[in-house]
Amino acid sequence: MDKYLQKISEQPGPSRKQKLCVNPLFLDKYGVADVKGRGICVVCSKENDKKSLKPNKLERHLERQVRIAVLTEDVRSIAFQRHYNKLTKSQSVLTKALTDKEKSDIFSYKTAFLIAKEKRPFTEGVNIMKPSFHNFCGIFEGETFAKKLIQDVDVVPLSNNTATRRIQAIAMDLKEQILEDFGSG
Ligand SMILES: [Zn+2]
Repeated sequence: MDKYLQKISEQPGPSRKQKLCVNPLFLDKYGVADVKGRGICVVCSKENDKKSLKPNKLERHLERQVRIAVLTEDVRSIAFQRHYNKLTKSQSVLTKALTDKEKSDIFSYKTAFLIAKEKRPFTEGVNIMKPSFHNFCGIFEGETFAKKLIQDVDVVPLSNNTATRRIQAIAMDLKEQILEDFGSG
């Protein structure tokens, strides 16, 4: 790994005349890569314009991301690569049209995560969030259209049990991610 990194530092930087062209070495060093012609931070998805794609600016951005900045350069480049793979994979997933079942599952996961993050009882999905969404639909969309939206939201699994299972799944996934980030690589 050391030899590999040394080789990187010996290579020349990008020339100034190029358009938005992300130096391929920026992924390992700063976690910024070309994603469909845009200079994207693979950790937080921030888009960098031409001016921001400078080592000193990227360095500053990196320092602000404490979770990544504390890692050694070796581990960091592994983490960046992992984020990059995930980002490009999730992009191709997102460009595909989702089925209603998939949308409903995503909504259910996001809601369970919201409840857990605020340390609220899991029953609030059914007791507070659903009725609140019904109100919103009724007020903003009028009765006829609201009916369809309310039907859609009513099939979303938001029960206490579902929320518990969702949170367990999210926690497992998070644990795996952390183990991978900090693992031997
Ligand atoms: Zn970032």
